[in-house]
Amino acid sequence: KKFEYMEKYDYEQLVFCYDKTSGLKAIICIHDTTLGPALGGTRMWVYENEDDAILDALRLARGMTYKAAAAGLNLGGGKTVIMGDPKKDKSEELWRAFGRYVQSLNGRYITAEDVGTSVEDMDYVAMETDYVTGLSGTSGDPSPMTAFGVYKGMKACCKEVYGSDSLEGKVVAVQGLGHVGYYLCKHIHEEGGKLIVTDIDQERIDKVVKEFGATAVAPDEIYGVECDIFAPCALGAVVNDETIPQFKCRIIAGAANNVLKEERHGDIIHEKGILYAPDYVINAGGLINVYHELLGYNRDNVLRDVAKIYDRILKVIEISKRDNIPTYKAADIMAEERIEKMGRVRSNY
Ligand code: NAD
Repeated sequence: KKFEYMEKYDYEQLVFCYDKTSGLKAIICIHDTTLGPALGGTRMWVYENEDDAILDALRLARGMTYKAAAAGLNLGGGKTVIMGDPKKDKSEELWRAFGRYVQSLNGRYITAEDVGTSVEDMDYVAMETDYVTGLSGTSGDPSPMTAFGVYKGMKACCKEVYGSDSLEGKVVAVQGLGHVGYYLCKHIHEEGGKLIVTDIDQERIDKVVKEFGATAVAPDEIYGVECDIFAPCALGAVVNDETIPQFKCRIIAGAANNVLKEERHGDIIHEKGILYAPDYVINAGGLINVYHELLGYNRDNVLRDVAKIYDRILKVIEISKRDNIPTYKAADIMAEERIEKMGRVRSNY
């Protein structure tokens, strides 16, 4: 049924890579290259079976197409999954064999690190291919850029809901104070917003309470606190049947991936009048950061591009109103419209 699936969602290519020396079993998936080369990290994971691995590669690659298109980047979507245990199965020969496969695609696919792979692994991949990014000694931790984008997107939501994009006096509930959550709290605090925070790591809470005057609550209390904005920055699936009745916010805008447990939860919050900033639009700062490594990294240029997430969120809201649909659907439409229009323009002349 692989070709059927590829036909249904317009996939371009699935590549199976095997190397006897290293035991490499990799599946590279290229979803769409209309806007540019397919970018997407390499995930290493112990999959139950081949079909699970293929499906993961297919789904993740398609997700990357939408994310890049919605971020306004000239990139398509791709992804690699390597079937193996990141703790046991890594070796120089495995990464170099993989690098040779990536090179054989002549730039149609660009890889990077992802779950189960590291910057050091990609340094080996880079010994065999030009088409890898996120290497050691380059731009480093993307989280501050992700946080900056989330902050900008949050402001755009405030503009829509409250008529002003200022966070001054706004109460923001931040779930997860890790790499992104911490920097997000900093931006909110600097603009005069009030923070209610939670984490499962007490040290992280203490730091944010001390530095930004945040109020801490227990992890399961964060959904029901009185606030203007709920910012999920820890885990996915936090908008679900249990949490929706608890929400008192008018905006949900955070860094976490797959915030909606199921699509229908996006429909429910839409009906309740809660504005949801679609995850892959608002958290694209990290991807934009990686993209700039391909262009030649300049921090000011990255900040300028990440700041455009503000307009992207406004655009999503505009489409949501235009078509009378929830924002998570509007985000997909924004991405599809861009791919479709650029595809036409670029094939014309
Ligand atoms: P992180 O691991 O640094 O931080 C996550 C934080 O959440 C940790 O402090 C952890 O203790 C806390 N946490 C875990 N479970 C929790 C719970 N049940 N309740 C409260 N807190 C809990 O991760 P990160 O890099 O800050 O990323 C946060 C989220 O944003 C993730 O979902 C990630 O996929 C997504 N994201 C991150 C980036 C990036 O640039 N780092 C980019 C896009 C999306």
